[in-house]
Formats: sequence, structure tokens, C-alpha cells
Amino acid sequence: MLRLLGIGGIGIVRMSGEKSFEIVEKIFKPKTYQAVENIKGYTIKYGNIVENGEIIDEVLVSYFKAPKSYTTENMCEINTHGGNIIMRKILELCLKNGAILAKPGEFTQRAFLNGRIDLLQAESVIDIINAKSEKEAKTGVKQLEGFLSKEIKEIKHKIMDVMVNIEVAIDYPEYDVDDVTNEQIIEMLNIVNTRLKKLEKSFDNGKLIKEGIKTAIIGRPNAGKSSLLNAILKEDRAIVTEYEGTTRDTIEEFVNINGIPLKLIDTAGIRKAKDEVEKIGISKSKEIAMMSDLIIAIFDSSKELTDEDLEILQLAKSGKTIILLNKIDLEPKINREDERLRKVSNHIVEISALNNTGLENLYNEISKMFNLSEINLDSELIITNIRHKNLISKAIEDIEKTKKTIKDGMPLDIVAIYIKELLEMLGNITGDIVSDDIINEIFSKFCLGK
Ligand code: GDP
Repeated sequence: MLRLLGIGGIGIVRMSGEKSFEIVEKIFKPKTYQAVENIKGYTIKYGNIVENGEIIDEVLVSYFKAPKSYTTENMCEINTHGGNIIMRKILELCLKNGAILAKPGEFTQRAFLNGRIDLLQAESVIDIINAKSEKEAKTGVKQLEGFLSKEIKEIKHKIMDVMVNIEVAIDYPEYDVDDVTNEQIIEMLNIVNTRLKKLEKSFDNGKLIKEGIKTAIIGRPNAGKSSLLNAILKEDRAIVTEYEGTTRDTIEEFVNINGIPLKLIDTAGIRKAKDEVEKIGISKSKEIAMMSDLIIAIFDSSKELTDEDLEILQLAKSGKTIILLNKIDLEPKINREDERLRKVSNHIVEISALNNTGLENLYNEISKMFNLSEINLDSELIITNIRHKNLISKAIEDIEKTKKTIKDGMPLDIVAIYIKELLEMLGNITGDIVSDDIINEIFSKFCLGK
């Protein structure tokens, strides 16, 4: 199995499997020859890739010997000079000599199938690759280290401890073992429930980190929307990524400032409005306000509130809103004490988008509103994956059902069926029991070469 990775100054052709050393030996002429059996794992050798006596590229080859490799199989990585032509050529040479092309995610899939990592860890590799913020990458790395897997395993052990006693009581009623009491079962279920609920709740934070706070900037023409947008995007510390928006013709920009992940909705619309070609109408503003987690409603503080402003305030009522009084460098006509503003939101910040003043206060306000400082990634487990969240929610439902069967006075063997279902749900998360379809689906989300 082999794969070509990216295009850059240096490229890597990666091979995994029994035959990888045999294949590399046929095409790679190291400066100092050593038989493959004598090459230790984690060795890098320098030499040339050669075809019919002709040098294709000067390369470094890293050797990883089973089981100490990413996939646990023999692996080698040919570090070539980047560039499509040479890499493709080397890839073809490997193929000609017996390698087959890897599917997306196949390296990680093998690491999973060979038991080196569990499904949670494999999925976290995708999250790390796709991470848009430092916080998100950190949660991915923590998952890769197995923190979440450990928590799920501990929860499963707690259930198993009680399950074993239940099984004995069902299968060997003649044995004089201490009967497991309903109270014991319920106590165990409550402990498990608390731990799962905590994980379930962490998803909301995880989602914010992963997807960003969907933010709509609304305001009447000339209030300063595009000036604000530019001021935010110009921040030195902002990491900006552009996305196609969910609706046609919209662009969403992901900005990360001081660890505050903002996904600005419809930035294209705001820019268009600036060209005076198309003003954002109230109905369009309504639409973007509806899809957002945060509304930033911006007003020109050097003018009295207009009818349009009042309509914008009406829209802003519908969600978490920050009111921005812009243009504070000019003579004020409205201020933060204005009852019409205070009725809509207590979060009022004064700025001058033109002079770049007050932005820091805006970020602090957002941070406070979303408890961002409370998301402590070092001490907390955070789930960011919807598949995990759904399974955890189902497991919590199973707990409720189990408790009900006990309260209804059902016999132990019925209770046991529910507890087994609960265990199965948790097993699905770490992948101890999971169908091939799900595995294929998960690994198909990988990029090539990982
Ligand atoms: P939009 O139509 O809401 O996108 O508003 P713009 O960002 O295009 O701003 C409209 C006008 O107000 C432009 O001439 C800006 O230069 C000006 N403007 C924006 N922010 C400020 C500010 O803080 N102070 C002053 N004095 N002018 C501003």
C-alpha cells in the first residue's frame, strides 16, 4: 500500500506492508549499501531512486520496522524533492514493482485494524488534520493520546463490574453468591449517567471550538459594517480562513482572535453592500441573523436612530446580541444609556471601526458571553465529534430505560438486556464493536496519504 503526500519543497511517498522493504530495495540505491535485514527501525538512509540505471531523484528513505510504525507493519517513507512529476514517477516505480495505491485514510485504518489505536483515536487524526484553530488541534491531540478512550473504558468497566454479578445471579441461581441488589444497579447507573452527561455537555463547547461562533454583522447602510469587518480581518493576531457559505453567493470567514473562533457569515454580502451595488435589505439581514449564534448589531452613534435602525434592533432581539455603537470619534447623538438599546441587549460596546478603537472590548464581551475562558482544554475532556455525541446521548437514554425497568419491577434478565445495550452503545464509540459500514464511512473522510 502506498501513497503520495502533498506538493511542496519536499514530498513523501509512503509505503506500508510486508513487501514495502522488498520494493524499496529494487528502486533505491543507498550511498552505503546495507541488506534490509540489517537496517534498524527508525533509520534514515541517503541515496538515489534509480530506474534502468538512470537517477530519478536524490532521496532520503526512512525505515520503520513492524510493529513499531504508524500502521504496525513494515513501513518506509521516501523523502523526495517535491514537485508533481518526480513524485509521480517514484510512485509509478513503486506500483510497477508490486505496490498498490492506498485509499484515503487507509494507513490510519490499518493502524486501527491492527489494534494500535482505537476508533476514537483514528477519528481524532482527521480532526487534527482539519483543525482550524489551536484549541481544536489541541482537543484532537488529547483524543489521540487516548484521554477520551480511557474515560469511556473506565465507564464501561464500572458497568461490567455490576453486569458480571447480574450474569452470575441469572445463570447460576443455585450458587450462594451475594445477590446484586437493585440499589447497587441504580447507584452504578447514576454514576455512569453523571459522567456521560458531562461528556455530552462538553459537545457544545467542542462545537464552538470546532465550527466557530456563527456571527452575523447587521446594520443599516453606512453604519459601518464593512469597516468593522475589515478591522476584524486586519487584526494581527487573526487567523483567517475563507469558506464558501452554505447559501449561494455567500462567503464565510473563519477568524481566530486570541482563541476566540468567529465564523463571520455572509462577508461577501457586506462587501457588496459597500460597492453600493446592492444594499443588504432587512429581509436578508433577518435571514443571516436567524442562522447565527451571535448577532453584532452596529449603529452609527453620530446620528439619531433611524427607522431602519429600529427595525435592525427588532431583529437583534431574537438572539444573543452585542450592540456596537460605531463612530465614537465623532460627536455622539446616541449613547449606551439609551433605553431603546438597553431593552434589546445589555452588551453594548463603543467602537470606532475607522480608527480601530474598542475592538478589544468587543472581543472581551464575546469571550464573556460564550464563557470562552471557562473552556479549559488542559483539564477537561471535550468531545467534538457528532458521531460520539449521538452515541453518548443514546447511551444516556438507555440508562433512563434501564432505570425504568428496574422501577417497574422487571426481572433481572430483562434488566440485563438493557444494560447490554448500553455497553454496546459505548463499544460503538471506541470501535470494539462496530460495523464495517461505519468503519468505511469514517475512514473515507480522511485525506489521501494518512
Ligand atoms: P456599511 O455600509 O455598513 O458597510 O458602512 P461602511 O463600513 O461602508 O461605512 C460607511 C461610511 O462610514 C464610510 O465612509 C466609512 O469610512 C465611515 N465610517 C465607518 N466607521 C467609522 C468610524 O468609526 N468613524 C468615522 N468617522 N467614520 C466611519
